[in-house]
Amino acid sequence: MPEKTSLSILVAGGAGFVGSHLCERLIADGHRVVCLDNLQTGSRDNLRRLEAHERFRLRIGDIVRPLPTRVSRTRFDRIYNLACAASPPLYQRDPEHTLLTSVLGTDRLLRLAERDGARLLQASTSEVYGDPIAHPQVESDWGNVNCTGPRACYDEGKRAAEALCFDFERLGRAEVRVARIFNTYGPRLSAHDGRVVSNLVSQAIAGEDITVFGDGAQTRSFCFVADLVEGLMRLMEHPVSPRGPVNLGNPEELTIRQLVEVVLELTGSSSKVVHQRLPVDDPRRRRPDITRAIEILGWRPTTSLGDGLRTTIAWFEAQDRPRPRQDETELVA
Ligand code: UDP
Repeated sequence: MPEKTSLSILVAGGAGFVGSHLCERLIADGHRVVCLDNLQTGSRDNLRRLEAHERFRLRIGDIVRPLPTRVSRTRFDRIYNLACAASPPLYQRDPEHTLLTSVLGTDRLLRLAERDGARLLQASTSEVYGDPIAHPQVESDWGNVNCTGPRACYDEGKRAAEALCFDFERLGRAEVRVARIFNTYGPRLSAHDGRVVSNLVSQAIAGEDITVFGDGAQTRSFCFVADLVEGLMRLMEHPVSPRGPVNLGNPEELTIRQLVEVVLELTGSSSKVVHQRLPVDDPRRRRPDITRAIEILGWRPTTSLGDGLRTTIAWFEAQDRPRPRQDETELVA
């Protein structure tokens, strides 16, 4: 990060799970941050520690539509595009909007970057690999995506957004960075968003049945959100374009059954496991090859699954208790 340089930064999707953690880090580093969010899956609650900060602004708007004037009138040095519902049940609720968020929304933000000479970081996804043929997933893999299935609105939208980013880069229209983000977890995952860590942890704490989709032999690799945010910022601030996407994730792979065991042990829960139907096109395995992130950015995750889950569980447990009033909460920076 440039020392003591205060940059003007737009974080689209900044009220979401990853976005809100990123906004906090950027404010703590002395930058001016405009968070643009339609609050479809993000929430003001995620920004409680920031909303009163003088270098922070929340603007409500949807990147599918023209940007709010107060956003388009601001000049930016950096644009992070994290705007898109990311949990399968939520992004499948309005698939047309999901696809347009990635395509129209990314185009709009790239044009803003072009106008301002700003650098844009696109939050892409391990979903571009689909149900992967090669394992672990390397950036050079082209992916195995069903372009007509229920996940296509997200996967193909993100793939098209990558194509747009690299066209803008090839044509010299904007500086871009593309992060392919693998499964991420941590505090502020919504208990209702349907992803596996939030489902398992909230079910275990409440003593409800643990839902395992299919036989639970499918694998994922889970990265703690603070590690991911560090990787995103390093990628954005890397002075030279990596010329292509960079995987960001934790290469420690486990089956969903193994994840259930760890969550039950750490919560001390005696919830029982119930099996439900495996969603259509659910990838069978997923693990990032992070050689590029290590070599280019000197980045690798440092939080163990046990530590990350303990922090996450503590956060979920605290949600059941009455919240401290706004004036009792600590501000960052
Ligand atoms: N999953 C599960 N139980 C749940 C939610 C998800 O077994 O309550 C499985 C899901 O089928 C997938 C994996 O956990 O194989 C990760 O799902 P998630 O929706 O978190 O993310 P994905 O990696 O599929 O986008």
